[in-house]
Amino acid sequence: MTVHAQSAILAFCDARRVVEQQAFTLHPGRTELAPLLRSRGRVLAEDIVADRDFPPFPRATRDGYAVHSADLAALPAKLTVIGEVRAGSILDGRTLGRGEAAEIMTGAPVPEGADAVVMVEYTARQGASVEIQRAVAAGENIVPTGSEARAGQLLLPRGTRMGFAEIAVAAGVGKAQVSIYSSPRVGILSTGDEIVDVDAHPGPSQIRNSNSYSLSAQVEAAGAEPVRLPIAPDDPVVLKHLIEEGLELDLLLLTGGVSMGKYDLVEPVLAEFGAEFLFTGAQIQPGRPVVFGRARCKPGAGSTTYFFGLPGNPVSTMVTFEIFVRPVLNALCGAPPGKLRFLTARLGSEVRTKTGLTRFLPAQLSGEFDRTEVDLVRWQGSGDVAAMARANCFLVVPPDREQLPAGEMVSVLLR
Ligand code: AMP
Ligand code: MG
Repeated sequence: MTVHAQSAILAFCDARRVVEQQAFTLHPGRTELAPLLRSRGRVLAEDIVADRDFPPFPRATRDGYAVHSADLAALPAKLTVIGEVRAGSILDGRTLGRGEAAEIMTGAPVPEGADAVVMVEYTARQGASVEIQRAVAAGENIVPTGSEARAGQLLLPRGTRMGFAEIAVAAGVGKAQVSIYSSPRVGILSTGDEIVDVDAHPGPSQIRNSNSYSLSAQVEAAGAEPVRLPIAPDDPVVLKHLIEEGLELDLLLLTGGVSMGKYDLVEPVLAEFGAEFLFTGAQIQPGRPVVFGRARCKPGAGSTTYFFGLPGNPVSTMVTFEIFVRPVLNALCGAPPGKLRFLTARLGSEVRTKTGLTRFLPAQLSGEFDRTEVDLVRWQGSGDVAAMARANCFLVVPPDREQLPAGEMVSVLLR
């Protein structure tokens, strides 16, 4: 049982490309109807279109007076106030004539005949008339009917992940319920003879299972459903049974057992399922031994299930999920695989590493606006979850750099 899969260790960008290419071939499963707020973090299975023009009327964007801009050629101008339009009301049946103005509030429909709104700050009310002290251009302080969207226009295409802005759009077009894709079920299988569950009292050489929990949290945050399988010992027979169970789900995430150790059995056992390994490592740190592939849960089964063998070190597990698992999970959720979103920030203190690997080092982004700075957090390597919890991002070190000087603008991946 020492046969390891044919090794294919890819550069970070190549491994990303492989994951992305596979993700593009995946499709979500069933759909369900959900009350609008339950769609948060999930993916739309229907197009959402404007049910009417947005805005549905020319909307005033300031409190002030609706006017004919041409009436303000000579200043100050004195106009007759013919009424008031509050938000939710209309200036019933009246068209604004020349020399006339209507008092108007933000969000109210601009009356017919008016072509601009003068801010109240530039006016002085004198009984039935108003003195205007500043000119306005035609169209100023008005959002025209349908300028944000026309009735029937596509606002949110199928495949959109629902966040607060998308929920606002759906609410705005009257969708109390939306059709979303059902969450894919993701098997989570931690392996290792030393691993015990969180409620067990660990012996002197035992380690509590944190990976199944961090991964469940990451899977849930990605809008999918984690299915935690029992901890697998480094025993090929038990491992095989649990892998078989996991391959029945929509995606299988294993942790541990993917290095070159004598008891790293994940790859050889997966090979017994006729697994196709798309890569067996990536030139990254942490997370170098990460494995990606697909296998059939039973010989002759119609479809294959994708799996990731994530390295057991907890920070490696977290990083490899973020950079490799997410695109596949997005696709199974019905969303586009998606790009990683990097920001740049000024480096606080010099960083020295070795060349050859793309590094994702736990770091802390602090400050605001143009004072934003990033610095590494102190850590003892990829087993140091406490350091990871003190970090709010990863500082990305390109593989060809052995030194990043303080003050350089560097890439940061948020977590
Ligand atoms: P492995 O990848 O199996 O060689 O494990 C690498 C390191 O990660 C070892 O120190 C393990 O004890 C630790 N580890 C493996 N699996 C887990 C887990 N589920 N939770 C916490 N630590 C783990
Ligand atoms: Mg192990």
